[in-house]
Amino acid sequence: MEANNTRLLVDCGLYQERELRYRNWAPFSIPPHTLDAVLLTHAHIDHCGLIPKLVRDGFKGRIYCTTATSEIAQIILLDSAHLQEEDAEFKRRRHEREKRRGSFPEIPLYTVADAKASFPLFTPLRYGEAVQIGEGVRASFHDAGHVLGSSMIKVEVSQEGGNRTILFSGDVGRWDRPILRDPSVFIETDYVVVESTYGDRVHEDSPDISDSLAEIVNSTWKAGGNIIVPSFALQRSQEVLYYLNELLNEDRIPHIMVFLDSPMAVAITEVFKRHSELFDKKMSHLMLEKRSPFDFPGLKMVQTVDESKAINHISGTVMIIAGSGMCTGGRIKYHLVTNISRRESTILFVGYQAIGTLGRQIVDGARKVRILGQHYPVRARIAQIQGFSAHADRDELLTWLSGLKSAPRRVFIVHGEPEAAQRFGEFVRERTGWQISVPEYGTEALLE
Ligand SMILES: [Zn+2]
Repeated sequence: MEANNTRLLVDCGLYQERELRYRNWAPFSIPPHTLDAVLLTHAHIDHCGLIPKLVRDGFKGRIYCTTATSEIAQIILLDSAHLQEEDAEFKRRRHEREKRRGSFPEIPLYTVADAKASFPLFTPLRYGEAVQIGEGVRASFHDAGHVLGSSMIKVEVSQEGGNRTILFSGDVGRWDRPILRDPSVFIETDYVVVESTYGDRVHEDSPDISDSLAEIVNSTWKAGGNIIVPSFALQRSQEVLYYLNELLNEDRIPHIMVFLDSPMAVAITEVFKRHSELFDKKMSHLMLEKRSPFDFPGLKMVQTVDESKAINHISGTVMIIAGSGMCTGGRIKYHLVTNISRRESTILFVGYQAIGTLGRQIVDGARKVRILGQHYPVRARIAQIQGFSAHADRDELLTWLSGLKSAPRRVFIVHGEPEAAQRFGEFVRERTGWQISVPEYGTEALLE
């Protein structure tokens, strides 16, 4: 976004989709040194993952975001840089062995040093605090209800002849979710840039999360097996702990040991603990009563590989929450190896499993799976709890937009699969009669 000779970038994400990964390697379409600031909505990798590259390639401005986003993004960027380095090394060896070249260079997209070099530019803000970015350009961050620290960003521009407000939705969260406050609603703006991840879908009514979780824990405990939960490090793991804590407080499940076995999830949980000012009423109340979901009896935060291996020697039922969320890497693979062929254990999925991942194979009912190079028959119970989504669906996105009391000059639909974005655009146009644009990648628009 450009106004009054100030250039802003809203988010700077990494492409994870195989067919779009080439964009990660392309030079930025705007020379990074000409940008004045980055406004970062939240710490998910598809929103912050290219920041180290941006800084390495010449960006010298500030990166504005909430304090929690700043802390979580740094954890995630370091992890991403490690993965980039490992990946490059792995490819280099493989190509050397096979005497061929891949489609991308065998160098890391960015290094740990690049990631660390970006950290001093992070400039944390509080929700609601307005910051002057340039002459006549101000920005403020507001609760998005998506993940800890996530924001919607309001940019106000004053120019001769009038003022304009542009609202960036970031990823829109959901109402009445645990831990976080609800998404902010705005009553007026001139322009909206809104995401459309679930723009063509409506979350199905799913059974109550607490009831499902209680049933799974109780029946696995009776059978004498373990409960293995592949989970994402940010938000999902903390929500699982939240529901477990609630069930324990209500005496609805036995006092089993629960292991959060992911250094990244443990580090992010520490950020949650430091930022109780971001919690909703119910969660704040729990903290006041000293019934924190991040400290309940039996909960163990696992750091080292040795500690992780030691879990195998515990007899009786334990729950292990580990990454990665789709079983594509991380410690979850080792726990699957020891449990997936045990009839008495349960593999519990709490998140979306993308096509082509090990998690998806298991959810789809594979009888045998390959993990770490070996085949294992699937005999454990495979369970899934729906309803954990952190994304507003089509109707919730419309509810969010409908907070606006008068028609904005234009709504831009972004950040969804092309079809989801198109269909959401048509849906909003039909329901509101507003001016809607679904821009293609790389197009420019003049805001008047
Ligand atoms: Zn997100």
